[in-house]
Amino acid sequence: MSRVALVTGGSRGIGAAISVALRDAGYKVAANYAGNDAAAAKFSDQTGIKTYKWNVADYAASKAGMAQIEADLGPIEIVVANAGITRDAPFHKMTPEQWHEVIDTNLTGVFNTIHPNWIGMRERKFGRIIVISSINGQKGQFAQVNYAATKAGDLGIVKSLAQEGARFGITANAICPGYIGTDMVMAVPEKVREAIIGQIPAGRLGQPEEIARVVTFLAADDSEFINGSTISANGAQFFS
Ligand code: NDP
Repeated sequence: MSRVALVTGGSRGIGAAISVALRDAGYKVAANYAGNDAAAAKFSDQTGIKTYKWNVADYAASKAGMAQIEADLGPIEIVVANAGITRDAPFHKMTPEQWHEVIDTNLTGVFNTIHPNWIGMRERKFGRIIVISSINGQKGQFAQVNYAATKAGDLGIVKSLAQEGARFGITANAICPGYIGTDMVMAVPEKVREAIIGQIPAGRLGQPEEIARVVTFLAADDSEFINGSTISANGAQFFS
């Protein structure tokens, strides 16, 4: 049986690597994206993975997008909530708009991605929910009060969902990547990026494929007892 996997933000960066890794592991993959049609078309041409456009911050649009995937591929049994954005500013300069945009996409977006699938997963007695959090949700980060709040929130979401879903064969786990070489990190000024790399004992940025590896591990049928966990993949960046 080939299970259906949804990856939000699955057309670029970490999400694209996750989509490809799940496809290679034998899943039927649907990759969501927000608005970059050119990147999504290129990704789809290169990989053969079908892309679906909606804004994860919009519940009705999320539900409609997933209904389309189910009509095309079948019930969604693996949900990877990966889509995320940053709107960085030191707190004294952070605007309510920057706060809400990040909360709506990164936190409410995770609710919107999981919730429409929850009842079906309970009924089918199987589900794998994997949320891409961040090292900055574990330790906080200068100029990322909004982002760190959402990524810490992810950890509460999976711990709670794990307790509700365990007896239905549903697992919910979070991955906390360190700094990975995607557009999001390459947008940081080079000087800042060099300083970040200086703090990583591995001496380099991570690769999207190194996060995808954790996703395929958690998505597997025989990973059922790994539930409510947070897995760090950060090149040995320790923090208290
Ligand atoms: P990218 O910016 O490279 O890619 C983001 C992807 O998410 C794109 O496919 C984008 O679609 C999609 N997306 C953004 N907003 C929305 C939305 N509202 N609705 C639907 N899709 C959306 O990000 P990364 O690959 O770097 O990050 C992926 C995840 O990993 C994020 O949650 C991020 O917070 C997390 N993370 C990243 C780290 C890093 O170092 N890169 C470190 C730790 C965590 P489109 O192409 O249409 O814009």
